[in-house]
Amino acid sequence: MIAQVIVDVAAYPVDRPFDYAVPDEWQALVEAGCRVKVPFGPRNVLGFITALKEETDVPQGKLKPLSQLLDIEPVLTSEMLQLAQWMTTHTLCFEIDALQVMLPSALRAKYEKTIHLKGPPEDLPAELQSLFGNKTSIPYKKVELAELLKQLKYSIEQGTVLVKTVVKQQGQVKAVRKIKILDDQVRLQQIVADIPARAKKQVMVAEWMVDHPGAIFSPDELCQTLQITTAVLSAVIEKGAAAYIQEEVYRDPFTKDAVKTKPLALTDEQDVALKQILTAMKNEQPTTFLLHGITGSGKTEVYLQAIQTTLEKGKEAIVLVPEISLTPQMSERFRSRFGEQVAVLHSGLSKGEKYDEWRKIQRGEVKVVVGARSAVFAPFTNVGLFILDEEHESTYKQEDSPRYHARDVAIWRSEQHHCSVILGSATPSLESFARAKKNVYTLLTLNKRAMEQALPTVEIIDMREQLKNGNRSMFSEELAEAIRIRLEKKEQMVLFLNRRGFSSFVLCRDCGTVVQCKNCDISMTYHRSQEKLKCHYCGYEEHVPQECPECQSEHIRFFGTGTQKVESEIYKLFPEAKVLRMDVDTTRQKGAHERILDAFGREEADVLLGTQMIAKGLDFPNITLVGVLSADTSLNLPDFRAAERTFQLLTQVSGRAGRHDKPGEVFIQTYTPEHYAIELSKDQYYEPFYVQEMHMRQRFAYPPYYFVVLIQVTHEDVLMAAEYASKAVDWLRMQLSQNVGIIGPTAASISRVQNRYRYQCLIKYKKEPKLTATLQQLIRMYRTDWVKKGVQLTVDLDPSSI
Ligand code: ADP
Ligand code: ZN
Ligand code: ZN
Repeated sequence: MIAQVIVDVAAYPVDRPFDYAVPDEWQALVEAGCRVKVPFGPRNVLGFITALKEETDVPQGKLKPLSQLLDIEPVLTSEMLQLAQWMTTHTLCFEIDALQVMLPSALRAKYEKTIHLKGPPEDLPAELQSLFGNKTSIPYKKVELAELLKQLKYSIEQGTVLVKTVVKQQGQVKAVRKIKILDDQVRLQQIVADIPARAKKQVMVAEWMVDHPGAIFSPDELCQTLQITTAVLSAVIEKGAAAYIQEEVYRDPFTKDAVKTKPLALTDEQDVALKQILTAMKNEQPTTFLLHGITGSGKTEVYLQAIQTTLEKGKEAIVLVPEISLTPQMSERFRSRFGEQVAVLHSGLSKGEKYDEWRKIQRGEVKVVVGARSAVFAPFTNVGLFILDEEHESTYKQEDSPRYHARDVAIWRSEQHHCSVILGSATPSLESFARAKKNVYTLLTLNKRAMEQALPTVEIIDMREQLKNGNRSMFSEELAEAIRIRLEKKEQMVLFLNRRGFSSFVLCRDCGTVVQCKNCDISMTYHRSQEKLKCHYCGYEEHVPQECPECQSEHIRFFGTGTQKVESEIYKLFPEAKVLRMDVDTTRQKGAHERILDAFGREEADVLLGTQMIAKGLDFPNITLVGVLSADTSLNLPDFRAAERTFQLLTQVSGRAGRHDKPGEVFIQTYTPEHYAIELSKDQYYEPFYVQEMHMRQRFAYPPYYFVVLIQVTHEDVLMAAEYASKAVDWLRMQLSQNVGIIGPTAASISRVQNRYRYQCLIKYKKEPKLTATLQQLIRMYRTDWVKKGVQLTVDLDPSSI
């Protein structure tokens, strides 16, 4: 038998499968999707078996055998192996990158293997007993696997021994020590007879064991129950009446139990939407729905009831949320409805917790996964529904290889499983809404809030007017007044800053120098809690300078507005206010998001102040005011999606107010009130914005009218970066059709990161059959030749920003 293996070496020209011989003793064990180690050049490398076959073109003498088999059960299903191939052509990545991204990092990382036995070591054939001593598991390192497996296989066939797990991830499987009593009463009785009568306690224990064959106990419990010392117990175990075993336990990522909820009686709109979803489900017709529902319209209830039906049909559901660690409320709503059937997968979990959750999914012990982007690869085998909540979020697109979009992967998988995808949003991406308009997706609309609350009233405040009237504070008079009223009425509010961290920069008031990162073309950010300047692009840190690095002036000061600065301003204006701040600084610790939100939910503070991360998912009854301190920041980014992002963000934050009984009020402060993205967010109507933005996209030839590809070339030397970017552009111009737009090369908006200069070029096209092949050839040129000159080139089909 021949195994076709993709090796863990992401380089040209080895980005293809290699053939290896499967040693005889493994023939019964290997399967496609298993991880292996193979000899590759002078090294042994990790790889995945992608197929098994009978024949190979490799000449007999040259064919090398697999050197280690790491899994007895495959870690990747055949669906995943196919998906990896699809990703290779659709994102232009190495197949190994696609395979690796589907697994929890614990399975990708270095591994340490252990061999477990199901039965007691006494049952082993004599040759193996010496290896195991009286242990039921031993480190893999101790033995030659080939030799051992030969014997194990023999033992499996004889039915004397079972291999439980061959691979153990060091530090991943969490196990506790238990005692398992021998499952053989005859032998137990023999042991009782062999114990000298004067060892009364031992006899008592052994006799007790005769009545409990095969039972598993924790040693401490057993000693307590039988009123014996551990010495007595060990003595009996040594005589072979029981054995120590390791029992796997799962780590619990949830810090608290969820309160059970029941399905709600649906509103008419929800009912119409759900019926359409259930009809598609019944017909097993893979359909992509775009559930467009205003904030508070009850999209989540529709998801929950659609999942309920999915589970009743014996199928599984995969729910994606933009970044679950930011929305603990969301995962809680799913756990409240489906309890133990829910697993979560997100960046807030430890490696071990992630691994455990993944195992529960793989073993079919759970039926619903709620997770961030990569949860789209959850290894369910009978998926009945995919859901992407807040489908417009850019976090669904991975920024580095493989540059996949979770939406595309979900749709691909839904076709394999003959099931549907629900894309939900109050502010769909332009691409998705355009597809819904063309009936590529099925549009479902929720226009009313579920509990018939009015949408909040939104007021746009021109900060230029405030300046003219002599108000230099970051709070307009209107917003300050609204805050005062809320503090009096003991209602809560959310203040939103369109930035991250304490986004202050340091500027010399004498010469105008702004302190910049020494590696990147970007100003350093001041972090007050550590009294340091940090670069958000490369992580470089330095102490806050006492004098200007250019002119040595001492008039060096912090500028800009960050959450910490807003916080102190609030305390200055409203000394009685209690503020909770949520930003990158206060949420670095595990579970911090949850703690802050819980405290706010218990009304321990009046104000929740934060950056982007508070825009989503918040649902608290007592929030009646939302203030956006500076709407413009995201508008001024050099990105064709800047207006769309701004509109989405403003709509999302506004939607946090007045979701329950009390009506909500929103103030949006801006220096450009006339911009349509800001003006139209006032009414929270999506369609007028869609129409206006589509005009712009058409006029400037951007998605969804055109597809775009972003090509980036970087080099330590600015001239080399420019030269190779030009080479790429020239070559593309030569290869691609006349009607394809090729823009550039231009310096990237952040022209240097980590000491590498960045140039980019943009391809815009409607239809270009030659595109994939041309880009593959460009990548090949780069991988064979340019890379040797220190050039790095990336190709991003459908970039989330430019
Ligand atoms: P969305 O996700 O669309 O912003 P949510 O699902 O968070 O909206 O729903 C908003 C609020 O309305 C929640 O408190 C939810 O419990 C409630 N809700 C949703 N559907 C119903 C319903 N059919 N009847 C009563 N309350 C509902
Ligand atoms: Zn200076
Ligand atoms: Zn930097």
